[in-house]
Amino acid sequence: MRKKIYIAYTGGTIGMQKSARGYIPTPGFITEQMALIPELQDSSMPLYTICEYAVPIDSSNMTTSDWHIIATDIANNYAAYDGFIILHGTDTMAYTASALSFMLENLAKPVILTGSQLPLSEIRNDARGALITTLLLANQLEIPEVCLYFNHKLLRGNRARKLSSANFDTFQPLNFPALATAELTITTNKERWLTANHQPFQIQSIQDNLVACVRLFPGMSMEILKQLLQIPLKGLILETFGSGNAPDNNPMFINLLKEAIKQHVIVVNCTQCPHGRVDMAQYATGQSLLDIGVISAYDMTAEATLTKLLYLFSKDLSTASIKHNMQQNLRGEVSL
Ligand code: ASP
Repeated sequence: MRKKIYIAYTGGTIGMQKSARGYIPTPGFITEQMALIPELQDSSMPLYTICEYAVPIDSSNMTTSDWHIIATDIANNYAAYDGFIILHGTDTMAYTASALSFMLENLAKPVILTGSQLPLSEIRNDARGALITTLLLANQLEIPEVCLYFNHKLLRGNRARKLSSANFDTFQPLNFPALATAELTITTNKERWLTANHQPFQIQSIQDNLVACVRLFPGMSMEILKQLLQIPLKGLILETFGSGNAPDNNPMFINLLKEAIKQHVIVVNCTQCPHGRVDMAQYATGQSLLDIGVISAYDMTAEATLTKLLYLFSKDLSTASIKHNMQQNLRGEVSL
């Protein structure tokens, strides 16, 4: 029996056409074009249903409400399909993939996000190959995870980051190998896959919250941090240097953070380096953050750190429990 795959088109370059203002999503276009690709109709392929969202968007316009729409759509179709493909713009695909990895609790089926750098409407494009291979992977691999497929690599969604806006090798896995590769043959890296836990599938929505990400830079005015903390914030992701270091010779910086932590702001240390991990004990400049109660993002991407924090806030947990869970491996997003 042919498997059934549900495809949601949320927007993004893959289904865009040129306009006077640059590429824009064009309702109806991707459905029509996919019906004309013979490989997608081949009997060796799964059967697919495509659902175009009412207003397809450029992913720069994504919000937490859009994540909720996608998660609910998957939940509503969960029993009827063997796998799910989310067609999405590349700009914020790593955020959506990370968010969905937390929101889709007890996932037991593949959910693969994909898109392209050049739209299907261009003669030369990476869209056609992405559609064919993603459909094949969703058909063949019983991987119970939220993944991201791009340029021959199937990545864990919450380990990927967009690193290029100029070439087809757009996404890179950070601190974690690809889950499968589709070169001349499809090769899987099964020992790295998550295993399904057989609890009932459910979704946890993510609400907006007063969370900020601050990328430190040498000489940054601490007035900025002071103003920001007066909002008052609930969570602060500090993008630090190297292995989680920050200016420990600036008393205003340390005191502001110390006071915020006392007021239950959750401060997370996430490194600016794409590769490597936070280890606050390595240098005195990191140790001073550890001493005041800053918690570590270890080797998580900034996208995974942010969406994990929002997810835990949405579960209405105590500050202590959020801090504890931030430092646990929930969906393969962190190596401890
Ligand atoms: N701006 C587009 C988007 O994220 C880029 C892309 O799809 O590649 O929707």
